[in-house]
Amino acid sequence: MLHAVWLVDAQSLRIVAANRAAGMLLGMPLAELVGTEVLDLAATPEDLCFWGDVADQVDGGVAQQIESETLVTRRDGTAAPVLRRVCRLNASSLVADAAEGAADSARRGDALYCVALHDRSQQVRVERELELTVADLRATLESTQDGLLVTDLAGRIRNFNQRFVQVWGLPQALLGKRADDTVLDWMRASVTEPGAYMRRLAALDSDAMLQATDVLELQGGRVLERVAMPQCAQGQPIGRVFSFRDITDKIEANRRIQQLSTTDALTALPNRRLLADRIEVALARAARDGSRFALLFMNLDHFQHINETLGRALGDRVLLDVAERVKASLRQADTVARLGGDEFVVLTHQADEAGAGHAAQRLLDAFKRPFTHAGMSFTVTASVGIALHPNDGATMDELLRRAEAAMREAKLAGRASYRLHQPRPAHADARSRTRMQLDHAMRQALNEGQFRLHYQPQVSLDTGEVVGCEALIRWRDAVLGEVSPGEFIPVAEESGFIIAIGDWVLHEAVRQAAQWLAAGRGVAVSVNVSALQFQQPGFVDGVARALQAAGLPAKWIELELTESCLIHDAQDAMLRLQALARLGVRLAIDDFGIGYSSLSYLKRFPISRLKIDRSFVGGLPAGESDVGIVQAIINMGRALRLEVVAEGVETEAQREFLQAAGCHLFQGFLYAPALAAPAFEARVGAALT
Ligand code: C2E
Ligand code: MG
Ligand code: MG
Repeated sequence: MLHAVWLVDAQSLRIVAANRAAGMLLGMPLAELVGTEVLDLAATPEDLCFWGDVADQVDGGVAQQIESETLVTRRDGTAAPVLRRVCRLNASSLVADAAEGAADSARRGDALYCVALHDRSQQVRVERELELTVADLRATLESTQDGLLVTDLAGRIRNFNQRFVQVWGLPQALLGKRADDTVLDWMRASVTEPGAYMRRLAALDSDAMLQATDVLELQGGRVLERVAMPQCAQGQPIGRVFSFRDITDKIEANRRIQQLSTTDALTALPNRRLLADRIEVALARAARDGSRFALLFMNLDHFQHINETLGRALGDRVLLDVAERVKASLRQADTVARLGGDEFVVLTHQADEAGAGHAAQRLLDAFKRPFTHAGMSFTVTASVGIALHPNDGATMDELLRRAEAAMREAKLAGRASYRLHQPRPAHADARSRTRMQLDHAMRQALNEGQFRLHYQPQVSLDTGEVVGCEALIRWRDAVLGEVSPGEFIPVAEESGFIIAIGDWVLHEAVRQAAQWLAAGRGVAVSVNVSALQFQQPGFVDGVARALQAAGLPAKWIELELTESCLIHDAQDAMLRLQALARLGVRLAIDDFGIGYSSLSYLKRFPISRLKIDRSFVGGLPAGESDVGIVQAIINMGRALRLEVVAEGVETEAQREFLQAAGCHLFQGFLYAPALAAPAFEARVGAALT
């Protein structure tokens, strides 16, 4: 017999016979087992009870039988799990070869109980291991970030974790019922495209071994990635495991990254990279169907001025405002990108010369309304250069370069306007130069001593005498030709190279003034000073040393500062101005009237002259607003006991107006342009005071 079996005498409750399997189960030699009291082997109350009943009811002759899982005590005291059946035997049913003792009992007509046991130790061990594995799996299931759903082949739900409940937002009420259909319906109703969702589920149903990854968009805007894997047992599919991962944040992060890498952080307009992509597309399309497009290169006029006088934060707000206006002025299909700083580029499709011109005019019109920020109202203008594909270039670089060059032409021609790229004869093409070329050439020019100063006479409106001159830098480059300071000074200001240039100008002007003084005809020389130069820590000392080295009394030098010099750090500016005034140099405010600063500093700063910007003089004497502004500046200057100088006087009518208005001095082509020193001497020799 495979099972352990022993026979128990109902009277004595002792074992009267046992098989070998019994000995093995209990760890006892058979000889010892026979005769053992059955109660000694009982390990559970149930067994104790049973044998108690047997003993009590034996006379009643009630046949008893039990079958259950229980424990028996082994010889070494340990308990073994067993499936145990006890039944009462009739003596007659005993087989002939039963053990001798049993046969005796039977013969005596005593009741015998047969105890048959199946050792469950192995099974229990396996079950326990299984339980542990299941517990591990449960824990794993719950600790994953993915929602998991396990179904059988018919689509019935077999298992899921809490995360599944969360990502799908399943109401607890639904879960309690475990009504599969309601859960599946809920899922279908949650996705934005139930039709497509069901079709994909049907595809999975049609092939139990199919693996698939999909992205599901939920009604609330969240996005799930669903991975469907077949679940197999012994090589056969028995169901599916779906995992759902919430990838909303990841998608958002990717979108942000994508956006940041293709847009400008300040204005959220496309950046150079995205613009390059769009131009690529336009070029490809042009190659296919011959369609045309144009690039409009836009640069704000005097934006540095805004930054310096109003501060960068306000400058940023102006740029934001500009971005909005430009966008609003364009067609939907056009792209406007910000390359950085105050540079914008518009890509406009299907544009010929006239179309691009219209687009540029719309851009400029967007600046007609004044800008209002921080309670101030002011005007910003822009200059635009246009390059057309295919006429002006075949590549993005070429087109951008040409458009930028055209923009510079617009600036030179007086700003606030647009220019189409003009193809030039080969020798002059050098003029379409980039900032980098300019910067490089400037450094070379300084090294090689190519800069010169010309001097423009300043004439007294009362007496007609020349009372001084303004030193203006001139540069003729071998390749680039004559480059105007209006073009290269802003580039030098941006790169910081203006400090080196300014230093050279100062020394050269001082040298020339000293030379004139030594020759017996002293001329005061006005020197233009850039904001960056003025703000250098050693600026005042530098001026003092230059004067000392040349042995020139300070009164022969005047410094022309712009309003931006004074506004930047008013406290510091005041200290510098006072130090310069103590040296004895004269101070003038150049280009007066185009700044945005308050006028209160005029009273406090030790300045002696105001120079009315030539843009106001140009409108005299007919332009109503220019007349008003110029008159106001002169009146204010006189009230503050400052000398007023008018720049850019080209006509006799302008001179007469200024004289009548009470202006003190003028300079301009009417009298003379800036002249090289010998020409200056020849021209003004007699007129010098
Ligand atoms: P600015 O200081 O306002 O100089 C006056 C400008 O007006 C000069 O232009 C001069 O040639 C021009 N001009 C003189 N008379 C007339 C006229 O009757 N009509 C017209 N339309 N223009 C006239 P330029 O020499 O081209 O200089 C432009 C600007 O470049 C200067 O404006 C000044 O801001 C800057 N600049 C010139 N030289 C220097 C320098 O040595 N250092 C610095 N930092 N800036 C300089
Ligand atoms: Mg000047
Ligand atoms: Mg000026």
